Amino acid sequence: MLVIGSGFAGLWAALGAARRLDELGVPAGAVEVTVLSARPFHDIRVRNYEADLSACRIPLADVLDPAGVAHVTADVTAIDPDARVVTTKDGATYDYDRLVLASGSQVVKPAIGGLAEFGFDVDTYDGAAALDRHLRGLADDQAATVVVVGAGPTGIETACELPNRLRALSSRRARVVLVDHGGVGSDMGDSALPVIQKALSDNGIEVLTGVIVRAVGADWVKLSSGERLRADAVVWCAGMRASPLTEQLPVSRDPSGRVPVDDYLRVVGISSIFAAGDVAAARMDDDHLSVMSCQHGRPMGRYAGYNVISDLFGEPMLALRIPWYVTVLDLGPAGAVYTEGWDRVVVSQGAAAKATKQAINTRRIYPPLSRDRAELLAAAAPELQARP
Ligand SMILES: Cc1cc2nc3c(=O)[nH]c(=O)nc-3n(C[C@H](O)[C@H](O)[C@H](O)COP(=O)(O)OP(=O)(O)OC[C@H]3O[C@@H](n4cnc5c(N)ncnc54)[C@H](O)[C@@H]3O)c2cc1C
Repeated sequence: MLVIGSGFAGLWAALGAARRLDELGVPAGAVEVTVLSARPFHDIRVRNYEADLSACRIPLADVLDPAGVAHVTADVTAIDPDARVVTTKDGATYDYDRLVLASGSQVVKPAIGGLAEFGFDVDTYDGAAALDRHLRGLADDQAATVVVVGAGPTGIETACELPNRLRALSSRRARVVLVDHGGVGSDMGDSALPVIQKALSDNGIEVLTGVIVRAVGADWVKLSSGERLRADAVVWCAGMRASPLTEQLPVSRDPSGRVPVDDYLRVVGISSIFAAGDVAAARMDDDHLSVMSCQHGRPMGRYAGYNVISDLFGEPMLALRIPWYVTVLDLGPAGAVYTEGWDRVVVSQGAAAKATKQAINTRRIYPPLSRDRAELLAAAAPELQARP
């Protein structure tokens, strides 16, 4: 069995498979579980907006070796579903009986002049670390201005952290501008919007809506309004798209590039390939598909791992349905906002919601770091966590 990716879906698919092998009493070595991932880490991607990245990267050896899961650092470039072969950038090939595609998503950076050269992002650990180095390296002689593009959840969380972050780096005045071609938090719902707007204002963030970024330079950004803003850094947080590896599968994809999966996380029409996390659109209840989120990616991974092994041994698979949906958005020093339901009704805010967000970011979404096999396998059980 191969797993592509070691994020929230891939890690838990691999551990879920190891756990199911154990449960079925399959002798060691009878089924090899191998993770192919571009980086030898399980990255806690949801924390990339934070100032301190020191706990955001977990070596795969710590969480996969004790469970007997092999891992190879490799960029997968092709999948041949007929031959059941995966090819990596260095030309190596890997056969599989079952594949779990869990290569996640990427921020979409459009072809705007200067963006590729000068733009930053918090999409990956490496991207967030590059932004951090850049902010630390800014000359200490004038107000630092950072422009965050995209006022969705990632842009809001990033912007809210920045004023304090910049002030902690030096005594410069910090200016943070949040820019969006539409409105602020347009997908966060009417209930959360006033809380978000107040937090942005309390955090001293300037908001420019209805404007498009036209060009980016080393220390400026040009807007569709004709305005040219000073920008010591531009952080691109607008838009996510599923990994391009989804294009390797002969199936239709949704507007975000995700492949359709059945209730068992099997790609519709391809019996040997399962998909989990941001690459897959799975039904969460009768009315809603999964959202690109670690909230959905982690259980999707666990169920995919369980089901792959069950499928290989002719055992019944488990259908995944998740009867609750929440969002918990970090608002920096202004706390957080916690919504419940697909209509996103605010149930807590401020310090109370912040405590929940911190519990999620520092404990709930982490695998056990004890290197203890039994603990790792127990954490991979195909069970739904209660809401946070
Ligand atoms: C700043 C930020 C904040 C976020 N906040 C939240 C939040 O509060 N709540 C929430 O639920 N979600 C949040 N998200 C979204 C969440 O991070 C993603 O939905 C989640 O990471 C998806 O998990 P995944 O395993 O599908 O993909 P990822 O976590 O992206 O993992 C993908 C894996 O695939 C590997 N990979 C990719 N391409 C290849 C390839 N070609 N070959 C080999 N390996 C490959 C990568 O190295 C990685 O290991 C946030 C995202 C960001 C960027």
